[in-house]
Parts: sequence; structure tokens; C-alpha cells
Amino acid sequence: APLKIVVVGSVAAGTSAAAKARRNTETAQITVYERDHDISYSGCGLPYFVGGEVKDIDELTPRDPAWFKARYDVDVHTGHEVVAVDADARTVTVRDLATDRTFVDTYDELVLATGVHAVVPPIPGVDSTGVFSVRTPSDARAIRAWIEDGESRGRVVRHAVVVGAGYIGLEMTEQLVARGLTVTVVEALDHAMPRLDADMSVRVDGELRKHGVDLRLGAVVVGIASDDGVVTGVAVEGGPPGADHIDAELVIVSVGVRPNTDLAEQAGVLIGPTGAVAVDRRQRTSVEHVWAVGDVAESFHVITGDPVWVPLGSTANKMGRIAGDAMTGGPLEHRGILGTSIVRVFDLGVAQTGFTEDQARAAGYDVEVLHNIKPDRPEYLGGKPLVLKAVADRATGRLLGAQAIGATGADKRIDVLATAITFGADVADLFHLDLAYSPTYATTKDPVHYTGMALT
Ligand code: FAD
Repeated sequence: APLKIVVVGSVAAGTSAAAKARRNTETAQITVYERDHDISYSGCGLPYFVGGEVKDIDELTPRDPAWFKARYDVDVHTGHEVVAVDADARTVTVRDLATDRTFVDTYDELVLATGVHAVVPPIPGVDSTGVFSVRTPSDARAIRAWIEDGESRGRVVRHAVVVGAGYIGLEMTEQLVARGLTVTVVEALDHAMPRLDADMSVRVDGELRKHGVDLRLGAVVVGIASDDGVVTGVAVEGGPPGADHIDAELVIVSVGVRPNTDLAEQAGVLIGPTGAVAVDRRQRTSVEHVWAVGDVAESFHVITGDPVWVPLGSTANKMGRIAGDAMTGGPLEHRGILGTSIVRVFDLGVAQTGFTEDQARAAGYDVEVLHNIKPDRPEYLGGKPLVLKAVADRATGRLLGAQAIGATGADKRIDVLATAITFGADVADLFHLDLAYSPTYATTKDPVHYTGMALT
């Protein structure tokens, strides 16, 4: 009988696994179950639909089950939730959410690509209308409609509170400001983008404030006020005195995500130290014939090999492809991640890869910090300062991580540094990299070269 692959979840990782499996084998029978209606969408594009930079949500959801059937001969069943796994019998129990009918399907290989859910803290009033998380196209449609229909509801949406200043919160902030809203960001930690080192994230604080964002740091939302179940404001603790209530017609909760491990646990799969599903480098879980990919799964740190969990679309796609390849006899293995990421915050690109200084110290390294602020290209062609911070192991000189913030060019430098770190570069190696130069793009000695010159 042909190999029968069942995939649970069809956004980034699940669809990549299905597509790669099909590319490797024409005969496999591939079925994908997805409880939502949208599939294979760009979650990363959702803030820009809310802001209007992306006009039509269809641009983010270009594929539907008919496309997958025609292109890959993969059967995608939306509105179908997998509610149980029997790993001994190799069956899944599936509920058709439209009819509430439940049926059993069999598999040879099962791929868990169940992703994450947004954390909604138990704040009184958090279930009020007008309070949203941002995870799916439905969330984005609902937020945009809430803003655009405010006038017809008799409550124009003028002021938004964003709870949590991680990258999703800040992308939403930028887009809400672009729509003309007044935005307050409430962050419990000391800076926006708190995963960066404080000397870098303080620059993000400055950029937010420069664009009129009311940034409340070290502050916590303790309640959500409502009128007839519709949000009217938030109560804040830890902010400036007398500023413990903020009026708002819209609240975005973006305080993080947790992996959807229910099904994995139910299947008896080992959960790793990070709280996500433990996998090996081929994306196999601890249970035979059960694989896990994408945000639900752990990854490996490129430098240490330790399990890490950094749920990102870039990694999710890769993991899906690796599992799809491995289960159809291919050689792919996951080489791990550096958690490389970038976010635009108004006029700044904010990027990081590998360890921050704080993380490197916590991991026990004797840390060398390399810092420079150089124009990303000559000032005569509009160069703007690029703040580049790298950290290295003093004992060996090996690069451990980098952070870059600048109006332009942060993306390129962080990718060069991520590549260098992946191949085990030490600080001095950076000086020797033969990088592209024209004054329209860079300086003769690039900021990356200057980092490589810091110790010599
Ligand atoms: P998910 O996208 O979470 O999909 C999992 C799917 O599984 C869901 O559709 C869910 O309904 C389904 N499912 C779960 N359980 C079941 C079940 N039992 N039965 C059936 N179906 C089930 N990443 C970046 O790298 N760069 C970015 O700039 C970036 N920006 C982002 C911005 C936003 C606003 C958001 C929300 C995310 C962003 N991400 C970004 C993260 C990226 O979107 C995710 O890493 C990616 O979507 C993960 O894909 P996934 O397939 O692993 O999981």
C-alpha cells in the first residue's frame, strides 16, 4: 500500500512538510487536517493588513485546498480538528467541525504541526468585546473591521492599548499609528523589545516615543474596563502616579505564545525542557512514526546544540521541509537555529541573531562586547547610523551573537553575522570577509568589518 502521511495543522510547517513529501514521492497518500478555515497563510503579514499596507487579506492567504490538490495532490480538510491520536494503532480521531461528525483515519507517518496559541493572561475583563490577540487572518479581519466600523457602532476607535512590547505588539503599534490611532504600549519589563540587551532596546523605546507612542514601561495591565461588555479602557499598575486608567476603544494583547502540545501529550510524546515538543534533528518525536514541526516543536541552538524554542515562520518552514524529506527517505537534518529575527519599528530595523550579551553571560561565557555606531553607507548618499553590537567568547574569540539597529542596512548586517556565526567565525574573521561595496549600499569598510577590527 502507498505510504500514508497525515499532517495536523496547515499554516507554515504543515504545508511545507506535505509539499516536500510530495516532491520526494509521487505515490504517497497525503492528508492534512486543519481546524481553522484559512491555510498556508502569512501570519507575519497580518499587522500590515490591519494597518492597510496590505489592502486585501487574500494577498496573505493565496492558497486554498483546491490549490493544494491541483498542485501537490494533497487533500487538505479545513474545519477538521484532530482530537485524539492512538500511536499504537496509528490512528487519529478527527472531528468535522461543521457537522460535529467524528471519524477515525489511519496513518503510517503523523506530522504534528499544531503551532501555538496566543497567551491571554487572566486579567479581569479580558474577554470584553474590542480586546484582541493577533494570530490568524480571522483575528486580523476582526481587528480591522472593529476599527473601520467604529463610527457605525457609535464609538469611533481613536485610542488603542497594546499590552506587551515584543515584536508582534510593536508591529501592531506601528500599524495602528499609521491608521491615525493614538497608541499606548504597556510593557511589564524595563524596555520595549525586552529580549534585546537593554543598551539596544532603549533605542527602540526612543523610536516609539519619537512617533508619539505613549510607552509605559515597568507597568502591568491589571483590569479591562467595559461598558455593556465593550471595552472602554484599561487599568494599569506601576505606571506614573495618577495615570492608572487609560481610555481605549481597542486593546491588543500580545504577551507571547505557547505551543499547542495537547495533541502531542495525548499521543504520549515527550515534551522538552522548553515546554515545546522534543524532537531529534530529523524532526522525529519520542514516539515512533510521530513527527513534530514548526512552532509546536523545539529546535537546537547552533552554538550549543541545546534545545531551544524560538517560534518563527522562518524556522517553521524549514522544519516542515526537513520532516517531509526525512519521512520519505531523504537526507535532510535540522542544523539548528540562532533565533535570527528582524522587526521594523517605524523608521528603524531592529535585528538580532544568536546570544545577546545577557544570554551569553547567563550561559557562562566570559563575554567580549564589540560595539560600533557607523553610517551604513557614506553620509553623502544619505547614510544613517547603524548601531551594531556583537558578543564573542573572550576565551576563543568565537562570535556568539549580534544585534543591529538602524534606519537601513540592519537586515543585511544581521544576516552576514548570522551566516558567520553559523560557520563558526571568530571576531577577526569578520574583517576578512569580502563584502559588496558601493557608496550607494555600504562603506568601504563595512560596519561588519569594523566589528572584526575591534580586537586588533
Ligand atoms: P501555526 O501558524 O500556529 O499553525 C498551526 C495550525 O495548526 C493552526 O492553523 C491551527 O489551527 C492548527 N491546529 C492546531 N491544533 C490542531 C488540531 N488539533 N487539529 C487541526 N488543526 C490544528 N515569524 C517570522 O519568522 N517572522 C515574522 O516577521 C513573523 N511575524 C509574525 C507576525 C504575527 C502577527 C504572527 C502571529 C506571527 C509572526 N511570525 C513571524 C511567526 C510565524 O507566523 C509562525 O512562526 C508560523 O506561523 C508558525 O507556523 P506553524 O505552521 O508552525 O504554526
